[in-house]
Amino acid sequence: MKILILLGAPGAGKGTVAQYLAENYNVCHFSTGNLLRNEVKKIVAKNIKEVLGSGSLVILDGYPRTRNQAVELDNMLSGSLRDEIKVLELAVDNEVVVQRISQRRVCASCGKTYGPQDKIKVCACGGELIKRKDDEEAVVRSRLKKYEEETRPVSDYYAADRLVKVSGEGKPEEVAQRVDETLAKFGIKKRR
Ligand SMILES: [Zn+2]
Repeated sequence: MKILILLGAPGAGKGTVAQYLAENYNVCHFSTGNLLRNEVKKIVAKNIKEVLGSGSLVILDGYPRTRNQAVELDNMLSGSLRDEIKVLELAVDNEVVVQRISQRRVCASCGKTYGPQDKIKVCACGGELIKRKDDEEAVVRSRLKKYEEETRPVSDYYAADRLVKVSGEGKPEEVAQRVDETLAKFGIKKRR
């Protein structure tokens, strides 16, 4: 079994990659940033018991968020399991993220997201397309700065031997191919 930690700034495409992994790999569990730390602890402990030896993949997304949490996670795992932690960091240039997010529009009615390539004015459901306050350029830049400050120590913690950076730029299928190649190096096989 492997534990894959996904790191990536807001707008780096982490959600898309997470969905791709869920559809194409034997993913055992997802944890998201919405889960409280204690819940994550329980899930990690439970899943480790359940999937030990089954070759499944446990994905952690949104945890660990700080260096202390990364240390805590290592302490929860015994020595050999600790080595099964792999970290995939989606790297996207800040300017690309700002471009991506500031051109994003969201349906006020159903919440579907539309990118710059969608030339429509109204959602398929008939709802109005609006720009979220969170997606304004200044807000995006401050979120990126906060992410960088918070998460850089986590990335540095794993950098020596367990982390691989993958470019999140380009088309989704190009990113997916890079992710596949990286996971293959980690010994994580795609579902047939
Ligand atoms: Zn809609």
